[in-house]
Amino acid sequence: MAHVHTFAGNPMDRADALRRDSIRLEALGRAPDSRFLPMWKLNVAIAGETQACLKWLSVHEVASFQADLPTVFLGLLEGIAHFAVDVSVIESPLVELDLGEDVKFEDCRTAAMTLDGAEAGIVAQTRSQLNWHRSHLYCGSCGTETQVMRGGHVRHCPGCERDQFPRTDPVAIMLITHDDQCLLGQSAGRMAASSFYSALAGFIDQGEAIEEAVRREVQEEAGIIVGEVRYHSSQPWPFPSSLMIGCHGQATTTDIVIDTTEMADVRWFDRATVIESLDGRRDDLRVPGAMAIAHHLINDWARGRVAPF
Ligand SMILES: [Zn+2]
Repeated sequence: MAHVHTFAGNPMDRADALRRDSIRLEALGRAPDSRFLPMWKLNVAIAGETQACLKWLSVHEVASFQADLPTVFLGLLEGIAHFAVDVSVIESPLVELDLGEDVKFEDCRTAAMTLDGAEAGIVAQTRSQLNWHRSHLYCGSCGTETQVMRGGHVRHCPGCERDQFPRTDPVAIMLITHDDQCLLGQSAGRMAASSFYSALAGFIDQGEAIEEAVRREVQEEAGIIVGEVRYHSSQPWPFPSSLMIGCHGQATTTDIVIDTTEMADVRWFDRATVIESLDGRRDDLRVPGAMAIAHHLINDWARGRVAPF
């Protein structure tokens, strides 16, 4: 089953050939039909309430401030160049940019709930990329201030000639099952001692395959041995730049040993209980909503939409 999760589905043509053409890119940065998406302290400009949309500005609207602010080329949409501009240094951007009464800067997770899927995908690219620029101003090798190239797809170090590229951090997220039960956990911290449970997850280490990360994380967090692992789908998660790689895995053992530094609780839940929870009929088990890939890993297994191991 094909899923296009929230934050995936970005329709932008990232136009790599154009990124390498600095003269044309500069001209597009001044072109009257080019569009600019302002982001303030990693909050995105949106207009409207129940069905919100991104607040794109024209070059005339951004001309007075854009020259001094970090601007990255997002890509082409219907042949039109789209850019993101980081307006964080402006103290009151709604006032100073005169963005209109129904415009606000919204946290990207909240914004994604009211934007359509394509625009949420653009938000993911914008947030991760602007955040990467904010934290890679200097070369990690020699400390020289880096220069933006290729419309924001490269930061080049004039000191040691090293190029840095926007990073994506892979995270394995896995629903482990055993017969008619699935393994759900509660992280130590914010959600501890609530009724909220989710699929286990963890960053993939360097030099580690996805399947290996799945098996390692589940063994570390829950003491469960996992055999077969199957890929399900993936989701960009721009907080700040993760790629959630969703898998189902088959447990070959069932005795749980919890790593209490990471997890507040890990339990087996039977399919009927999980279905009741998905249908909103249980107070003692709440699982993630449809915005999160974890929901779809759980839902597809519970409703028999993935082949059993
Ligand atoms: Zn350097």
